[in-house]
Amino acid sequence: MSRVKSRATARLMLAPYAAHEAHSRGRRHPEPKPDFRSEYQRDRDRIIHSNAFRRLVYKTQVFVNHEGDLYRTRITHSIEVAQIARSAAVALRLNEALTEAVSLAHDLGHTPFGHAGQDALNACMRRFGGFEHNLQSLRVVDELEERYAEFRGLNLTFECREGILKHCSVRNARALGELGERFIRRQQPSLEAQLANLADEIAYNNHDVDDGIRAGFIDFRDLSDVRLFRREYDVVTALYPDLGERRLVYEIVRRMINFVVTDLINTTQSRLDDARPKSIEDVRRRAKPLVGLSDAARAEHDELKRFLRERVYRHYKVLRMTTKARRVLKELFDAFFDDIHLMPTEHLDAALRSEKDHGMSGRARAVADYVAGMTDRYAILEHRRLFDPAERT
Ligand code: MG
Repeated sequence: MSRVKSRATARLMLAPYAAHEAHSRGRRHPEPKPDFRSEYQRDRDRIIHSNAFRRLVYKTQVFVNHEGDLYRTRITHSIEVAQIARSAAVALRLNEALTEAVSLAHDLGHTPFGHAGQDALNACMRRFGGFEHNLQSLRVVDELEERYAEFRGLNLTFECREGILKHCSVRNARALGELGERFIRRQQPSLEAQLANLADEIAYNNHDVDDGIRAGFIDFRDLSDVRLFRREYDVVTALYPDLGERRLVYEIVRRMINFVVTDLINTTQSRLDDARPKSIEDVRRRAKPLVGLSDAARAEHDELKRFLRERVYRHYKVLRMTTKARRVLKELFDAFFDDIHLMPTEHLDAALRSEKDHGMSGRARAVADYVAGMTDRYAILEHRRLFDPAERT
């Protein structure tokens, strides 16, 4: 084989520290290997075919779905996360299919109305073990999806489930067995999971600039103090002084993403070169993640994050919506918890079973599962059906 050819082949091969299917810790219910796909491709395909994935179409990222068709929703956000993470995975010779699966699944447990919804449900569940959207994503793929004859949930591989569970309190980790161990020992997940995690942050930081401008909450002048934005703005306006506003925004955001992702790939590769992990187990044993940004890029990224928190997430129009959302979810939860017979039959049955096994916290968990699974518009409709006497039930 010529040297050029062998180098090209090496680039296509997974690095030793990537997630190799042969070393997978497997599925909870053993299944025959797929004929034409890898195990991680099968994970990805199961996620795409799940109900929870389809519901992400109508779940808020920051802007509520009915505010405009062009804003990100959780599904377009998840696809953008997957795109960013996959590009980096290929460049770092990591497992692309696993990276994609984790990225597409990372928000499956999100409540309606974004973080306001999660906070509201967590407050409702305080006496019953709380509500974490991360843990809920795992619950969706492990328990709540019912599509297969042989098992509950999607029966995903350990590596995919490990990637979905980004954070977890030590108390909850104890109840999770093997999957929870790393939170107790303070260890890391696979590089593919670390990548999906950082790609999530890169995706929302950048697309919220675009959505924030679209909503009229921020403009170029506001953003000129944000270094990440300012650098690309100066370059693009010098190169294309007559560019219209929309194309200017897109061109800048595209370059911002490219800047951060390039830094991510270079920084991570040089950390890998230093650490020389020989396997996924070496990666897991480390005290800190290997995937990351350089200090300079991290500082700029955090600066953008602070800007967005102040100027977009705390904009009065967003706050009005989050206040409404919080009220809607709390009232839904309270009404169903007080009388589970108000829930549709399948959720009532789940609540009766869960209450029989775990008492009031079992009842609360079933109500939380129902409420968390709602889309924004379904939650609004359910709220009207319960509280507006003129609405049909
Ligand atoms: Mg996300």
